[in-house]
Amino acid sequence: MTREKLVVIGGVAAGMSAASRARRRNPELEIMVLEKGRHVSYSACGLPFYISGQIANPDDLIVYTQDFFRRKRDIDVQLETEVTRIEPGRKIVHALRTGSQHVTIPYDKLVIATGASPAIAIPGADLPGVFTATDLKGTSALRRFLDERRPTTAVIVGSGYIGLEFADAFARQGLRVTMLGRSPVLLEGFEPEIAGQAEEVLQSNGVQVKKNCAVNSITSSPLHHELFVHHSSGSDTAGVVLLATGLVPQTSLAEDAGIRIGSSGAIAVDERMLTSVNSIYAAGDCTETTHLVSGRPVYFPLGTTANKQGRVAGENAAGGFAQFHGIVGTLMTKAFELEIARTGLSMGEARAAGLAPESVTIHSTSHAKYLGGKPLVATLIWSRESLRLLGFQVAGPEGAAKRVDAAAVALHAKLRLEDLLHLDLGYAPPFAPVWEALLIAASEAVKKGRRA
Ligand SMILES: Cc1cc2nc3c(=O)[nH]c(=O)nc-3n(C[C@H](O)[C@H](O)[C@H](O)COP(=O)(O)OP(=O)(O)OC[C@H]3O[C@@H](n4cnc5c(N)ncnc54)[C@H](O)[C@@H]3O)c2cc1C
Repeated sequence: MTREKLVVIGGVAAGMSAASRARRRNPELEIMVLEKGRHVSYSACGLPFYISGQIANPDDLIVYTQDFFRRKRDIDVQLETEVTRIEPGRKIVHALRTGSQHVTIPYDKLVIATGASPAIAIPGADLPGVFTATDLKGTSALRRFLDERRPTTAVIVGSGYIGLEFADAFARQGLRVTMLGRSPVLLEGFEPEIAGQAEEVLQSNGVQVKKNCAVNSITSSPLHHELFVHHSSGSDTAGVVLLATGLVPQTSLAEDAGIRIGSSGAIAVDERMLTSVNSIYAAGDCTETTHLVSGRPVYFPLGTTANKQGRVAGENAAGGFAQFHGIVGTLMTKAFELEIARTGLSMGEARAAGLAPESVTIHSTSHAKYLGGKPLVATLIWSRESLRLLGFQVAGPEGAAKRVDAAAVALHAKLRLEDLLHLDLGYAPPFAPVWEALLIAASEAVKKGRRA
């Protein structure tokens, strides 16, 4: 009897979670993963730490190898195999092996986990010395360049969380860093009081931050020793340039196969991660999801989501039943000693969703002052009309980021300000002040609401 066959396209967070979950659900299934790169199952989230030198060996970022999946999970991982077309009518995919050999592979169930690619629509983005660092290949090339050419200056184009993490990484390597952001604030999606803390920590560590700088092009000196980044406020010179200008979902295979693309530009899926085409699931950075606070479809590509969605897609593709309901937009990052995190909606996002938001910003400490507690800033956002929590953001040292987790749970539970006041959050002098930042912020929000 022929075994039912699951084919997975893409072998990182979403793809390998799908394949592994499917194996656990159905030991009889034939499972094949097609990955165009040379690695599977690595932590893209750890890439900045390879550049900073905190991780010396890139192999440490690889969670499991091709061989592990073959031996331990009976999953056939085909590396350097790029899928070029899906034919849903015939239930086959076309692929190119090592760039040239054309193969067709039949499937009964298919999971698309093609991720995202860097947005690099800037003339000069292909010059030597200009890098993206969204995958192991690109980041290894950057590492080699730093080791061999030893540049002393870097320009980072983009002021999102990935740009921030690489600014820290370059600075730790002794480079003088300039960060160019297109918008008037750093870290789009963060409130000015929180993003301002990030800007301060960058500047106090020698990173020059320039905002309102839309980059037009990059040029280089004749032997490429110097790169010139031209932008709306002038130009900057550097020995190495990193483009951290955002991610674009990889949807072309899905689009060509007639799969519906959602309003955010990523693949539309239902709660079981099923696309609009029968037997084809999708998960991870190539898909959109529902924001559970606004109720709207969003593109919010993160590893934590990709892993969960992959599990759900794998479970369903193997004959089980699982659902992924959506996200509340929790994101955390770190630059130097400062931790920065958010969950829920920003004021701008809440306004766009018609949720009549209000906000309050409070100043607290990481833990008891007599034990060396450090300053911490938090912003709480709520709806004037429903008094529901809409978002919470925090910046501070030593465990500040994980403080948003309590707020994330509150968002899932749709708690209101009054509910927050009663939360029994942990306290002991080494960990927190008596009044935890979320509770202080909620109390201030209630007072502000009463005054209005
Ligand atoms: C620097 C950095 C830091 C990050 N930090 C965090 C963090 O702290 N926390 C967090 O939650 N997230 C973080 N992320 C995001 C996280 O890494 C991604 O959300 C996650 O890797 C997405 O997994 P994925 O499997 O959906 O896609 P990807 O990791 O993009 O994998 C997709 C794979 O599909 C393959 N592929 C694409 N097209 C084809 C094709 N046609 N044929 C065959 N193979 C194909 C690609 O080669 C790729 O290997 C970070 C990302 C970066 C770049």
